[in-house]
Amino acid sequence: MPTPILVLNCGSSSIKYQVIDVEDESRLASGLVQKIGLPDTSLEHTVDGTTNRMDQMVADHKQALELVVRAFEMYGPALSDVVAVGHRAVHGGQSFRAPVRIDDDVIEKLSELSPLAPLHNPPAIAGIEAAMSTLPDVPHVAVFDTAFFATLPAEAYTYAIDAEIAKKYAVRKYGFHGTSHKYVSERVAELLERPYDEVDQIVCHLGNGASISAIRGGVAVDTSMGLTPLQGLVMGTRSGDVDPGLHAYLSREAGMSVGEIDRLLNSRSGIAGLTGGSSDFRDLGTRVEAGDSAAKLAYDVYIHRLVSYIGSYLAILGGIDAITFTAGVGENDDAVRESVCDRLAPLGFLLDDEANRIRSKEPRRISQPDSPVQILVVPTNEELAMARETLKVISA
Ligand code: AMP
Repeated sequence: MPTPILVLNCGSSSIKYQVIDVEDESRLASGLVQKIGLPDTSLEHTVDGTTNRMDQMVADHKQALELVVRAFEMYGPALSDVVAVGHRAVHGGQSFRAPVRIDDDVIEKLSELSPLAPLHNPPAIAGIEAAMSTLPDVPHVAVFDTAFFATLPAEAYTYAIDAEIAKKYAVRKYGFHGTSHKYVSERVAELLERPYDEVDQIVCHLGNGASISAIRGGVAVDTSMGLTPLQGLVMGTRSGDVDPGLHAYLSREAGMSVGEIDRLLNSRSGIAGLTGGSSDFRDLGTRVEAGDSAAKLAYDVYIHRLVSYIGSYLAILGGIDAITFTAGVGENDDAVRESVCDRLAPLGFLLDDEANRIRSKEPRRISQPDSPVQILVVPTNEELAMARETLKVISA
C-alpha cells in the first residue's frame, strides 16, 4: 500500500521538504522555500523532474507552509494522501532517545532544549507549530539528530569538567547527524550481507558539516560532534576541535566577545577560514591543483584531523570490519578518500584505486578484495531515513 510521508527540515530562513513513499522508497515531490522573512522569498517545488518556481514574500514559517500547501495544490501530488509528517529536530538533549509523536508536551520540552541548539531548535519548533496547524489531521513525528548517539557510554560522552556544573547545565557530548550515521551503518550491514549487530564499523559523514562515528555491533560508542555540532572534524566553515583555552586567550588578547568567538569558530573557520575563500570542496580541489599553498594546508589539516579520529576509533573498537564514506565530500571526492586510505594502508585499509575513481550514485565497495577492512561509499539519504522512522512511530 502506498505510504507517502511528508518530511520537513526547517531552518531559520528556509524549509526543505520531500514527500517519500516509504513503501517503494520513491520520492514523489521535493521542494525548498528560501529567504523566509525577506522581500525575495522563493519556493521551488519539483514533481516528476519538473521544477516549478513561486516568488512570493512570506513573513514567517506559518506563511511559508501555507505557500508549500499551495504549491502542492497547484502542482501535486495531493497532500491529502500524506499519512504523517516527519520533522527534523536537531537537538533532543537527554529527553529524547528516539523519534517521538509530537504533542504539546514534546513541543514544551523542545523549547526547553533551545539553549543547547539556539540556531536549530527554535526554527524547528516554528515549523512544527506551523505544520500542525496547517495539516492538523495527520500525526506529526519529531526525528532527532542526536538520538542515534543516546547509546554512547559515559566515558565517551562525559567532559572532564566540574561534575556539578556539567549536571546543572546538561553539558555532555550529544553527537549529531545521527539519522545519517544510523541509515548508512544499516546499509553497510546489508551490503556486507551480515547482521547489523555483528558489524563493527566507522562511518565518516563528510559534508559541509562533518562528523565521524564508531559503531560496535549496531550500537554507537563514540562520535566526533559534542555538546554542539562544532566539535570534531574540520568542516566547511567550522573549526572542529581547538584548544578550549582559545576562548580565554582571544578574549584577553583580541578583546573579542563570546559571540564574536562563536561566530569565528562557526562561520569563519574550517576550509573557508583557512583559505580565505569558499567552503566548497570542488573549489578547494581546483585551488590545490593550481598550487595554492593556503588551499594545500587546509586540505592537509582536514585529512590529518580525519585520520587522527579514525585511528582513535580503531583503537576504541579494537579493529573494524568496515569504514564508510558518505555525504557531499565523502560520496564525491575520491582524492579525500584516497588521501585517508593511503595513510591507513599499514592498518589494513587497502583501497582499490580504480574502483575509488568511479563516479556513481550507488552504494559501492572501493577496497581491494583482500583488504582486511572493507572500504565503502554509501550515499546518505536522511529524508528517507526520517520517513522510515516516522512510519515506525505511527505504526507502533
Ligand atoms: P553536503 O553537506 O552533504 O550537501 O555536502 C556539501 C559538500 O559536498 C560541499 O563542500 C561540496 O563541495 C561537496 N561536494 C559536492 N559535490 C562534490 C564533488 N563532486 N567533489 C567534491 N566535493 C563535492
